[in-house]
Amino acid sequence: MEAIRTSAEGGTAMKTKDVKAFGTEAAEAALQQLNIRRRYPTPHDVEIDILYCGVCHSDLHTARNEWHGTIYPCVPGHEIVGKIVSVGEHVKKFKVGDLAAVGCLVDSCRECQYCKDGLEQYCEVANVQTYNSPDKYLGSQTYGGYSESIVVHEDFVLRVPENLDLAATAPLLCAGITTYSPLKHWNVGPGQKVGIVGLGGLGHMGVKLAKAMGAEVIVFTTSSSKIEDAKRLGADDVVLSKDRDQMRRYAGKLHFVLDAVSAEHDINLYLNQLRVDGALALVGAPEHPLPVAAFSLIPYRRTFAGSMIGGLPETQEMLDFCGKHNIVSDIEMISIQQINEAYERLLKGDVKYRFVIDMASLKK
Ligand code: NAP
Ligand code: ZN
Ligand code: ZN
Repeated sequence: MEAIRTSAEGGTAMKTKDVKAFGTEAAEAALQQLNIRRRYPTPHDVEIDILYCGVCHSDLHTARNEWHGTIYPCVPGHEIVGKIVSVGEHVKKFKVGDLAAVGCLVDSCRECQYCKDGLEQYCEVANVQTYNSPDKYLGSQTYGGYSESIVVHEDFVLRVPENLDLAATAPLLCAGITTYSPLKHWNVGPGQKVGIVGLGGLGHMGVKLAKAMGAEVIVFTTSSSKIEDAKRLGADDVVLSKDRDQMRRYAGKLHFVLDAVSAEHDINLYLNQLRVDGALALVGAPEHPLPVAAFSLIPYRRTFAGSMIGGLPETQEMLDFCGKHNIVSDIEMISIQQINEAYERLLKGDVKYRFVIDMASLKK
């Protein structure tokens, strides 16, 4: 279905079409099929037919309004891979038929120092996220990858390494970059002991990436069923975090800890694993605050930090790094009709280690 609409900006007529998507109308409602509008490619846009979309815990937090500020209807999904089906007249980077990927960002101001430095995620004006951000073209909110297709400015579209399995590449677009960026920022490498807390979508990518960067990797998990897996994924050691004796093994010994836990937990237990001048970067984003004891930080001059996804140049760098080291996500493929069930399993930590939606299921 096609319709000529007037865009929010400048009153320019913008041609749009309706595409099928899966989303939710309210925090308490299940996700279901709905139609959304996509613009036709403007001169610098590419249109991507979505083949696979990963399921991030942020999708669930947002769909259920756990961070507040969700605009409904909400169509999540920011781990997108697909094929380019049309391009605007000025597009240089891509052509029809190319494989391409879109992560968590689809635009930013492009003028502030952070944008110029390739740190678009920290744009001073406002980054535009793939879903639940204001859409300057259509005046609505942006809609994510649980949909047939997406239209994105070529500057925010990534190249996919040819040697990697496409479905298993999708989770790199969020889980991959969100763990790669802090590991790089804190110079993780040989000679360092690195802790990864929470073996979910992000955590399992953190293990693979930290290992490929040359670090000694210690996984902290609440799930005894994941111990063997953690080793298979590359961990040198695994600590069952509910066991106080095991938690003493690395106390004061780790150089860096990456915390990727999606729910409330005692952050002090992990700060206490750091040696002098060690840093803990929080990437997990639980709904409620995490209390920090002064004496978890002071005696060892420790740093408690955070990190958000990654900018466009670093996301491409991460994809190329994964291509070189043959790193992809461990995935369980689902159909879009299984998404509500997948969210319930995510809440129980029951995924090994990322759900990826086969978007062909939406066309049925
Ligand atoms: P996920 O696949 O659901 O993994 C979360 C893991 O946390 C679980 O597998 C589990 O690991 C652990 N966990 C869950 N509940 C727990 C609890 N009550 N106590 C202790 N551990 C618990 O989620 P994800 O997609 O990796 O995302 C993780 C978090 O990162 C989410 O909050 C997400 O929104 C956030 N995120 C942040 C960014 C960013 O830019 N900073 C980007 C993407 C996602 P074990 O079974 O091993 O204990
Ligand atoms: Zn995500
Ligand atoms: Zn900016």
